[in-house]
Amino acid sequence: MRIEAGVATDIGQVREGNEDSYLVEPPLFAVADGMGGHRGGEVASQLALETVETLFRAGTGTLVDQVRAANQAVFARSAADRKVSGMGTTLTAVQVLGDVAHLAHVGDSRAYLLRAGSLRQLTDDHTLVQRMVQAGEITAEEADVHPHRNVLTRSLGTDPDVVVDEQDVGLLEGDRVLLCSDGLTSMVTEGQMQAILEATPAAQEAADRLVRAANRAGGVDNITVVVLDVLAGDAGQVGEGVTGEATAAARPGHAPPSPVTPGGGPTVGDPASGGSRRVVRWVVAAVALLVLVVAGATGFRGWVDGRWYVGVANGHVAVYQGIPATVLGFELSHVDLETDILAADAEALPLYANLADGLNANGRDDALHIVDQIRRDLRKAGRAALGGGA
Ligand code: MN
Repeated sequence: MRIEAGVATDIGQVREGNEDSYLVEPPLFAVADGMGGHRGGEVASQLALETVETLFRAGTGTLVDQVRAANQAVFARSAADRKVSGMGTTLTAVQVLGDVAHLAHVGDSRAYLLRAGSLRQLTDDHTLVQRMVQAGEITAEEADVHPHRNVLTRSLGTDPDVVVDEQDVGLLEGDRVLLCSDGLTSMVTEGQMQAILEATPAAQEAADRLVRAANRAGGVDNITVVVLDVLAGDAGQVGEGVTGEATAAARPGHAPPSPVTPGGGPTVGDPASGGSRRVVRWVVAAVALLVLVVAGATGFRGWVDGRWYVGVANGHVAVYQGIPATVLGFELSHVDLETDILAADAEALPLYANLADGLNANGRDDALHIVDQIRRDLRKAGRAALGGGA
């Protein structure tokens, strides 16, 4: 079988930059949705995909190893460069080998499979609300409108290590695989997505139409879509027929890390020699070490000071500056504001059960916003308890 790919990315109607990136480098395909102030999100999503692509081309490790290395690369850059400190990214990647799609996934971008008239989500969102849905605390519909629906429980580049979801999916001719950022799924229902995919035979046109639909629905976020069609043909043809080009609306700088070269990508089952693999691994390790040493000497304090979270101090909900960690006995954070909200009350709500671990915030204002939200959620829960006669 062979894969035909379509890809489209767009800034949307509201955002000032496109922090999404994509990779269409047959047989490797991915989307990444970056986050972090200024240029951080853009840097994070591009660096993550470049790292995966470089290691894939060198034949280094499995897809999951490559994604873990991408995590370290983003984390190291974030620590070394104040301008992008605290950045992170989602990453949903698929590598097609023979008739199997290997999936690796972190965050709330998604992979779907359209097969025989049904659209199935292959990935789980790593979000607080998804955790609540799985625990039966709220419904999927409530999750769609929850004020914390964007809070990620896992992302690339925010911690030195990350757990990567992996999955193998056997492909059949006629399957269509969709990779997309949440700028699509937050704007367009799965029913609408399926209708567009079924009404549009060409992969590139399907990708363009999905992006247009998200923009018409408001386009409040960057939108990125990769559509992969599984067609008849032999495995050696993987990569041919790729039509991957960003839509005209895509911003410069969001082209794939290297130009799409139909049929010219790495061949299936063609690993690099053991020698060059070892060299690449050493170079990656040496660069990572160097970056960390430089970061330690210069930027680490600034990077820590640029981070905020909501946690617990003296039994109360509190806003912290820094990160919830201790190095050699030194606290890497301090209390900025201790509120009058009892931590135990907040922790009784499922959404805040892990409050003591710290809820990451995007700056001080965002941390204060989370505190307000906790207050509102507690008031709501209190009313529910009274209403129930408790
Ligand atoms: Mn997004």
